[in-house]
Parts: sequence; C-alpha cells; structure tokens
Amino acid sequence: MIVILKPQADKQQVDVLLRHLKEMGLQLNYSEGENTTLVGLIGDTTRIDVDDIAAYDVVARVQRVSEPFKKVNRKMHPKDTVIEVAGNKIGAGYFNVMSGPCSVESEEQIIMVAEAVKKAGASFLRGGAFKPRTSPYSFQGLEAEGLRLLLEAKRATGLPIVTEVMSETQLDLFGDVDIIQVGARNMQNFTLLKELGKSDKPILLKRGLSSTMEEFLMSAEYICAYGNENVILCERGIRTFETMIRNNLDISAVPLAKTLSHLPIIVDPSHAAGRRDMIDPLSRAAIAAGADGLMIEVHNDPAHALSDGAQSLDIPQFDTVMREIRRRVAFEEKELQVKE
Ligand code: PEP
Ligand code: MN
Repeated sequence: MIVILKPQADKQQVDVLLRHLKEMGLQLNYSEGENTTLVGLIGDTTRIDVDDIAAYDVVARVQRVSEPFKKVNRKMHPKDTVIEVAGNKIGAGYFNVMSGPCSVESEEQIIMVAEAVKKAGASFLRGGAFKPRTSPYSFQGLEAEGLRLLLEAKRATGLPIVTEVMSETQLDLFGDVDIIQVGARNMQNFTLLKELGKSDKPILLKRGLSSTMEEFLMSAEYICAYGNENVILCERGIRTFETMIRNNLDISAVPLAKTLSHLPIIVDPSHAAGRRDMIDPLSRAAIAAGADGLMIEVHNDPAHALSDGAQSLDIPQFDTVMREIRRRVAFEEKELQVKE
C-alpha cells in the first residue's frame, strides 16, 4: 500500500500518522520528492482500512498495490484448488453440473427430477428448502421438511445435494447436506459466513446482486479466514440497467476469479437470465470462459413451479442442454463428473 502525502503537509501531523502506521506492525518506506512525498507500507496490510488512512488531513491519496484478501488469493496459492465432495472433484479441470428445482415442492417432484437430472449427467442435485423470496407472500420453501425430502432423493439416486442455508440458526439441520449454498442475498451476512467458516462442509458462495468482485472474494475470504477453505464461488448475474433479463451474467467474473483466486468458480445461468431460452447459450459461454461447473434449475412441470418456473428447464429441455454441455466440456478437455 502506498500513502501519498499532501504537498506542504504539517510535519507534526505526518509524524502522528507514521507512528500510527508503525504501531500497526508495518515497516515504512518514506520517500520525499520535490513535489510529492510517498510512504510505502511494507507488511500485512490486509487489516488496514484505506478510508481510515485517507481521512488523515495530511494524506492526499492511498493506493493499494496488493489485494485485501490473502487466503483466497492466487498469489498465496498458485495451484487451482480442487474440492472433493461425495466422490466428485470440483475445480482444476473437473466439471460438475448441479441441477434440480428452485424449490423442493413434494417427494414425488424431487425424486422425479433427481432421477432425471442424474440420468442426463448432473453430478449434484440442487433444491431449495429455505427460500429467500423478495415477497413475504411468496412460497417460502418447505424448510425442514424440504431438507428431509432432499435427503430422500439423495438416498434414492445417490446424488449428493446442494441446498441453501439462510441463517446460522438452521445449521444443525444441514449435517447430511453435501454442499451448503449461501444465496446472493446473504453473500455479506458476516455472522453466517463466520459460522460456515467454523464448519468443514463445502460452501457454494453465490455472488451478491450488486457486489463487486472484490466484495465477492472478501466474502469467500471470511469463510476461509474462520477455518473452512472449501469454498466454491458461483457467478449468478448482477444487477444492471437492463430490464429484458432478470440479471446480467457477468461472464468476465469467471476469468477474473481465475486470475485473482485459486478457488473453483461455477456459473448459474438460470438466475442470471431468468429465462429458460438463455440457459443453453449462457452455459456455453460459461464453459468457454473457463467455469468449473454449472448450476441449472430443472422442474418436472415448470408452468406450475412454486418458484422460478420461467427460468426452469423441463426434463426433455435439460436433456438437450446437457448433450451440448457434454460436447463443450469435452472440447475444453475438462472431465465431466458423473454419478453411476
Ligand atoms: C437459488 O439458487 O434458488 C437462489 C435463490 O439463488 P440466488 O441466491 O442466486 O438468487
Ligand atoms: Mn431459484
């Protein structure tokens, strides 16, 4: 980090700042030029709040030269992380498709969809039991009963499950869940992130609707900093001015995450677009951009789905999309993980 001082900054006030920085355990490299004085901060600057330093009267500007995240930073861990869960590998060339309904609705529904997505080549069953809905009057999920049904579907098909937790108070119910999802709306629920950091379950962290990449990676850093380094990132679209689609898939998030971090990143084209006709092209784009997997919503009867029907593929449509996914994954020389 570099602190640029104002010209003619008061010497005494500069000393107060330098003392403060030294007390934070940093070494200072003070360089006084004719017009500009720079202070280079050497050491662990992750604990420094740039705004706190910029607020000193004598400071003109503060410039970070390294990212504020450590554990998820590729600089600290050059090799891709591979997360192993229920016999599947995720990341570093191992590609997973996680599919199922937005919400678990009934035993019949979840078993039917689980069998179908497994047959088509998905390696995880997704399904929401606790649903974060914009309206309190919308279907809120079957909650604990939904989790029980997901576990039934896991027993029936052998597919590991991924499902969303909305609060740390629900975590006791998640013992047999294979991957715990943190939804976009909870990406910055720091109490939840800290609790998940204390668990050893793989976490699927979805990007917040209006989060920058730095904020996204800092949320992953929270989980890692509290002890759990099994984090899978998920790009699911961000808010823009566009109204024809639900969100905008930020495809650049994939190569950016790969450059900045060693964690696997998957793409959710369903929530990104909100329209089923976009699932196939966005999936192809995600694979080409280097994603480690896809999360796709599939329903046995999308017209009557209790949530997100418009973006859900029916079973024959998913079969068709999966055929294309297989081809593209093979073309990228990645290995599609499947459950026998
Ligand atoms: C979901 O996966 O069903 C979901 C609610 O996703 P997001 O948090 O990305 O909106
Ligand atoms: Mn959904």
